[in-house]
Amino acid sequence: MSLKTKLIVTLGPATESQEMIGKLIDAGVNVIRLNMSHAKHEWAEQMTKYVRAESEKRNAYTAVLFDLTGPSIRTGDLEEPYELKEGDKVEFRRADIASSIPLSTTVNYPGLMGDVKAGNTLVVDNGTLLMRIEKVSETNMICDVRTPGTMGSRRHINLPGVRLNLPALTEKDHKDLALAVECGADFIAGSFVRDAAHVAELRKAMEGIGGEAQIIAKIEDQEAVRNIDSIIRAADVIMIARGDLGIEVDFEDLPILQRRIVKRCHELGKRVIVATQLLESMINNPTPTRAEVTDVMNASYEEADCLMLSGETSVGRYPERCVEALVRISSRIERSGGHGFGQNVILSDERQKTARAAVTLVDSLPDARLVVLTRRGVLANQVAMMRPRTNAFYVFTPKESVCRQLSLTRGVRAFRMAYASNIEETVQRATEQLRKLELVRTGTPIVVVSDILSDHFAANSILLHHA
Ligand code: PEP
Repeated sequence: MSLKTKLIVTLGPATESQEMIGKLIDAGVNVIRLNMSHAKHEWAEQMTKYVRAESEKRNAYTAVLFDLTGPSIRTGDLEEPYELKEGDKVEFRRADIASSIPLSTTVNYPGLMGDVKAGNTLVVDNGTLLMRIEKVSETNMICDVRTPGTMGSRRHINLPGVRLNLPALTEKDHKDLALAVECGADFIAGSFVRDAAHVAELRKAMEGIGGEAQIIAKIEDQEAVRNIDSIIRAADVIMIARGDLGIEVDFEDLPILQRRIVKRCHELGKRVIVATQLLESMINNPTPTRAEVTDVMNASYEEADCLMLSGETSVGRYPERCVEALVRISSRIERSGGHGFGQNVILSDERQKTARAAVTLVDSLPDARLVVLTRRGVLANQVAMMRPRTNAFYVFTPKESVCRQLSLTRGVRAFRMAYASNIEETVQRATEQLRKLELVRTGTPIVVVSDILSDHFAANSILLHHA
């Protein structure tokens, strides 16, 4: 029985061979993520080719996700890393200014001093170093080190709770976006999305150069959380990017925020990814910690569409074991049932009401199959959001790109199939395909829901037939 929860892995030195990509697809991976913060263009192109080739060999629809760096703030280049101890003073300054104290670094965002004030917390390198801003001028700021640690070159800086006036897309993002479009990316993720306008800007920039990818909005800071409803409405998919979000909010708030965002995505009918540190200890160890098992179990129980691995598969020692762990944990929890947020989907149009009726019908029939006929995938996503209990949920669509874009939709197995000119024959073709794959037997009830154009009118229909 296939897994409902979809899986994303991030490629990196541990997984960049074609053979390994094939193995990951075999292990159950649905989407491959290229993290543009680290990827060179040639490498990203090569990886996309490998994914397409391995996916084609298996008749799979593995998607490629380009994750843009976004406007992240980083320390400058240091000759040697600084070993900092509590009470040390560190200067962060504009690149055009000379250092005024020995421990000093530039920052890549010249407007930073205008956005912060004394008393704000500054976090370096994903939470490994905490500082308090003591003094700010137009060109520099002096920070007091609160926890000891090492500060190296180009380390990521977070400023929890501070509204930064950074652009939505940097020059680098525009270049990476052009590459993503050239490579035919299925998904493009915007980092540090703070409001719906940022999502719209990314979509416009992508469409302006001919891209057809779906847009993922990464929720990484408090401002995005405040604007969550409008971001969910503007994006195709939401990613709860817990790496940064876990630094930007108090850590005890993170599980509450995760649950609220997953729930709200269900209500508003948008797909949701839970990302980062699901199996962090497996970067070095062959088995997960008990806490990680519980965390993965929780995300699957919340019925998120997708779980995402980052360092575990990009630099970790056990990439395949990590995927296997996600499969084992998620399939176990799927057998015992989920939270049921799908009951809360706000039904705002007739199509969603049709989808709800079809899911109610299929879940009331023992051993029934659910089939969705959809050209753009919209109906399939709406049906999936209702979280049907059945494990037999098949989508037939004429476009391969739609099959790939459904690869992060929970519970769906997509097939590419040309439609006939009438709906009866199209249903017949789909049934035949399921029969060939031994996914139905004679007499199996099949609930078909469709909004395809048939005989020149839009058929919003539910059909119950038997194979
Ligand atoms: C995250 O912060 O959780 C995340 C996925 O973003 P990135 O790894 O790109 O920083």
